[in-house]
Amino acid sequence: MQSEMKMVKKEKRRTQQQSLIRGLFQHTERPLSAQELLDAAVSIQPGIGIATVYRGIKMLLDDNFIIPVEIPGTTPRYEKPGVRHHHHFLCKKCDKVYTVGGCPGHLEKLIPPGFVMDSHKIVLEGSCVTCSPSG
Ligand SMILES: [Zn+2]
Ligand SMILES: [Zn+2]
Repeated sequence: MQSEMKMVKKEKRRTQQQSLIRGLFQHTERPLSAQELLDAAVSIQPGIGIATVYRGIKMLLDDNFIIPVEIPGTTPRYEKPGVRHHHHFLCKKCDKVYTVGGCPGHLEKLIPPGFVMDSHKIVLEGSCVTCSPSG
């Protein structure tokens, strides 16, 4: 019985940690890396570790609550699956990724004849408002 109680307790803690990570995604509009999640989580629940964050990410990925945002050459980020088509902006100074709305569209005209394009990703790069000289 005692081990059962232990398991229930452990399960409860896991659920709490998972809902903490889930909450962080609900309160941000931009994709978050594991490190960014950890920084935010620690301010809410001191003592939370990176392993817990990774576990939370894995659980949320399994639930399809978040999807990976893969930008070559950068650490993986995650975001809520958006209903609306969007792209990303990478600030090369602070290394934050932002969601940008809008799309140039009509990209089919770039591909050679006979090729079929079924999706595209656009990553804009530069400085965010916090890092730009005028900001
Ligand atoms: Zn920046
Ligand atoms: Zn697009």
